[in-house]
Amino acid sequence: MKILVINCGSSSLKYQLFDMDNEEVLVKGLVERIGIDGSRLKQEKGEDEFIIEEDMKDHTQAVKHVFDALTDEDNGVISNLSEIDAVGHRFVHGGEKITSSVLIDDEVKKAVKEYSKFAPLHNPANMMGLEACEKLLPNVKNVAVFDTAFHQSMPEENFLYGIDYKYYEEQSIRKYGFHGTSHDFITQKTAELLGKDQSELNMISCHLGNGSSICAVKDGRSYDTSMGLTPLEGLVMGTRSGDLDPAVVTFLMDEYGYDTKKIDNVLNKESGVLGVSGVSSDFRDLEDAANNGNKRAEIALKMFANRAKRYIAGYMAEVGNVEAIVFTGGIGENSITMREDIMNGFEQFGIKIDSEKNNVRGGAHLISTDDSRVKVFVVATNEELMIARDTKRLV
Ligand code: ADP
Repeated sequence: MKILVINCGSSSLKYQLFDMDNEEVLVKGLVERIGIDGSRLKQEKGEDEFIIEEDMKDHTQAVKHVFDALTDEDNGVISNLSEIDAVGHRFVHGGEKITSSVLIDDEVKKAVKEYSKFAPLHNPANMMGLEACEKLLPNVKNVAVFDTAFHQSMPEENFLYGIDYKYYEEQSIRKYGFHGTSHDFITQKTAELLGKDQSELNMISCHLGNGSSICAVKDGRSYDTSMGLTPLEGLVMGTRSGDLDPAVVTFLMDEYGYDTKKIDNVLNKESGVLGVSGVSSDFRDLEDAANNGNKRAEIALKMFANRAKRYIAGYMAEVGNVEAIVFTGGIGENSITMREDIMNGFEQFGIKIDSEKNNVRGGAHLISTDDSRVKVFVVATNEELMIARDTKRLV
């Protein structure tokens, strides 16, 4: 069974074609600058690259070029589009209506539109990818896998904000959480590594990348998570502020005359470790700068580590009987020093990482000492595979 996984952003589209008989990635690619001058598709098959540079005015044209690349005589991997059995789409916000991956129907589309108010950049873009597939592959089933779905198991005391209950009732203002597909994948994988049933696993999943979130998993399900109504809450991120006193927002708006669009931009694009350091949002640059004596880069890295510690420790107390702490995402999988900095201080709870074992990137590795009270792992996430698996199951 061949499954195409599509992840549409507002001007980009990532895709992977899986052979689900052996979960092999046959080909993957990225389309950039959709609707902007200089559209470009890059497809990778092993070491080989195939590039299409042609204007793509919308997502339908982008999807059409993806299909051309997949079936290209010299660079493609299938000879006919009929070889695609199903398409799995990454969707961002399914609100309270969507609690798991679903075959797309009118109800799902309605939910996507309804919750676009909380994901104005993502949901409409996800929808455009879906509509393009429906048009160009009319006989193929589409499945939606939502970032928010895994977190729908959170209890009310964890998803509500400390504001008047009427805002939840009238406007659905609550914590939804994101990166659910990754936290779900990591939970499944950790259960496998520990050789136990997922439903009996309590753990902390730390997805640290450009966007970062930590998830408290209780009985194999999301119990609490650091991202909120939108992916702005929680950890200090590449360019997002994460948690801050809400009064900062109103103060900045008053003092600088910022409107909602501007403040949204300040908090999402100009903040986080980029804003604090003035250097970069990329942790490799920050680590280099800090090593070369840049004070603000050093502070940004310390802030990131401290905020992560706070969530991990708090969630351990919320969940109880935590068996594993798992690092994933670009930073979680690759930054040896950041993992060390975050776990530094947990020795007093009997949790220790082994510096030699921690000298790894990606894969699936145990990095804690033999006598650590909680096992610490590095596990590479794979959201696309998760989407492909759910798609296979549902079709
Ligand atoms: P996204 O949230 O966009 O999917 P990723 O999970 O790919 O992001 O994470 C990207 C981040 O991972 C980069 O910005 C960089 O900070 C970090 N990263 C990648 N490789 C390394 C490395 N070797 N050392 C430290 N940080 C790294």
